[in-house]
Amino acid sequence: MAKIWVYAELHQGKLQPTSLELMARARELGDVEAIALGAGARAAAATLGKHGAKVVHLNEDQAFDDFIAEPATDALAWLYQRGAPDLILFGFTPDSREVAGRLAARLGVGLIANAGDVAATDGAFIAQVPYFGGAKVASMRANRKPVIVLVRPKSFEASEAGGSADIKELALAIGDSSKRARITERVVEASEKVKLEDAKVVISGGRGMGGPANFPLLEDLADALGGAVGASRAVVDAGWVPYSMQVGQTGKSVRPGVYIAVGISGAMQHTVGMKASKVIIAINKDAEAPIMKMADLGVVGDALKIVPALTAALKARKG
Ligand SMILES: Cc1cc2nc3c(=O)[nH]c(=O)nc-3n(C[C@H](O)[C@H](O)[C@H](O)COP(=O)(O)OP(=O)(O)OC[C@H]3O[C@@H](n4cnc5c(N)ncnc54)[C@H](O)[C@@H]3O)c2cc1C
Repeated sequence: MAKIWVYAELHQGKLQPTSLELMARARELGDVEAIALGAGARAAAATLGKHGAKVVHLNEDQAFDDFIAEPATDALAWLYQRGAPDLILFGFTPDSREVAGRLAARLGVGLIANAGDVAATDGAFIAQVPYFGGAKVASMRANRKPVIVLVRPKSFEASEAGGSADIKELALAIGDSSKRARITERVVEASEKVKLEDAKVVISGGRGMGGPANFPLLEDLADALGGAVGASRAVVDAGWVPYSMQVGQTGKSVRPGVYIAVGISGAMQHTVGMKASKVIIAINKDAEAPIMKMADLGVVGDALKIVPALTAALKARKG
């Protein structure tokens, strides 16, 4: 059985959803050990066990929360010396990227970033990595172990497998050499009500919304549906909405139950970030827009009229 590590990313005491998505695939590939570092690691261990981790290595030293990447890198390298895995999975998130890059350099191996999938074939791990904006997918295989793969969030669906993990405390001390870059401030974007990546319904607006003044129409619809608002890069680049709302190749990947693309043409750089949505609805005045080809339901017409009418109908139904 291959030995797989999953880096269980914690953010201010909370286990990140990506970590559980990785668990779903990791347990199909071998025996999974998760590494959880910082505040909340002990609480996260129970969840990781339910999702298939046989062992959770943890340490709740404050340094993991206060300093960037180096304490986590040192802890992983320390653990590696005591039992090397065949494959290490990280989420392709800003924090995990920092750790994975440093760890690869430390271990003298490469890493495969931005993967959409990873599988085992003939004893080797093969990662699928989209390129040309998702139009093509490359199969990548590392020629040295451990294979380090960073997987895009929402590539797998998290699911419980039952079971519980053995807890192993990492008996290491984080020294001053690991504490060179301190996190001085954390800023939470006030605009995000329901987190875009976690929302069950996502309503994204594109250039067809006509301007930033019309985005509140999408907020109203999102409120009526309990969803979150996303955007195309065109409108982010135009400064209508912040980058944190961008969906697509250079933005976030989402996988909601329902994705409503409003005034979005459906360029592949956008669709690569939302095509895993269960139901896709497009509202576009152009019946020939590329998004219409992938939509389960296409509504042809002026978004500025359709969206408020839809919101009003939803509110009327709720009473
Ligand atoms: C390297 C690279 C990375 C990129 N990364 C991303 C990314 O992460 N995310 C992303 O989104 N894009 C990305 N892009 C940009 C992408 O190629 C497209 O340019 C962009 O997605 C287009 O945005 P849009 O659909 O809002 O605008 P447009 O393509 O201009 O489409 C606007 C749509 O609105 C419709 N419309 C107009 N008026 C109305 C109306 N009143 N009612 C209804 N519909 C209307 C039009 O028919 C049209 O289909 C990237 C590009 C490159 C080169």
